[in-house]
Amino acid sequence: MSELRYNIVTREWVIIATERAKRPKDFLKAAKEKKILPEYKQDCPFCPGNESKTPGETLRLGDEKNWKVRSVYNLFGALSPKDKPQRENNGIYLSMHGFGNHEVIIEHPCHNTMIPLMSNEEVEDIIRAYKNRYVSMQDDEGIEAIIIFKNHGPSAGTSLEHPHSQLVATPIVPPQIRSRVSAAMGYFDSTGYCVFCKTLEEELKAKSRIVFETDKFVSFMPYASNVPFMTWIFPRRHVPSFSGISDGEIKDLAINLKSTLQKLYFGLDNPDFNYTIRSMPVKEGGTEYLHWYLSIIPRLTQPAGFELGSGMFINTALPEESAEFLRQVKSH
Ligand SMILES: [Zn+2]
Ligand SMILES: [Zn+2]
Repeated sequence: MSELRYNIVTREWVIIATERAKRPKDFLKAAKEKKILPEYKQDCPFCPGNESKTPGETLRLGDEKNWKVRSVYNLFGALSPKDKPQRENNGIYLSMHGFGNHEVIIEHPCHNTMIPLMSNEEVEDIIRAYKNRYVSMQDDEGIEAIIIFKNHGPSAGTSLEHPHSQLVATPIVPPQIRSRVSAAMGYFDSTGYCVFCKTLEEELKAKSRIVFETDKFVSFMPYASNVPFMTWIFPRRHVPSFSGISDGEIKDLAINLKSTLQKLYFGLDNPDFNYTIRSMPVKEGGTEYLHWYLSIIPRLTQPAGFELGSGMFINTALPEESAEFLRQVKSH
């Protein structure tokens, strides 16, 4: 028998196909041959010495020569701050100039490292850079949402090997963010609680889907996970916007994020994954019902026709079993 589960945060139903459920170890087969990468690559625009290949630096942590993290404009940015947030009607259709922002955050000078292999301090610097770029854009006129994300590996859509994340600021509130806001508002209206705080409370009580806990963050698998090993990292403190992350929380998130990614790295042999920081629309700070978090989506399966046709996912892994499996994997 399969089971349908409802996600109260996203208002999405998912089919947990328990009958054809795979054991956690079965997902190892999805891991492909990994290339061994060099520490430095002469023609990589993100490697030290090639800084002139990335014009438009917006942030450099560390000193001039030995930088730790840099952020730069995306050379082929999807949106640009040079345009204007202006809407245009073409008959019944609506369009807008490509206004916004698109930056790349180069996470480390080393070509072949990644968060699970970095020191805590190095991961902290990446999160500090995220915050710096987020805060610097959130008050810009016309910016409505900022999405910070990372693509790791070919099935996660990465085009460059050097460890990097991206940040896109959009002139509209994307429909998915709008729908999360309305779900959270609806929950608040009927219960008087933040749906994220309540979810965290419930997960800490149930324990079965918890992956890793630190002082200020909890990583766990959502009850109605869309895909195998999907993991959420929630701050314990109620803060609507990622820009509200404190320095103590940055330090703690570095440990939590690194340990959670280590469990995936060692447990599933470096799977491809995306993660995204889900913060609320930038002009809606300070609410009682919105709460930022980080979502990790391992790319172990491919969405197919049913997912495309319905927006509903079939998950072939039990979140409780996957969480139990990751809990056993040691992080350092
Ligand atoms: Zn490189
Ligand atoms: Zn909350």
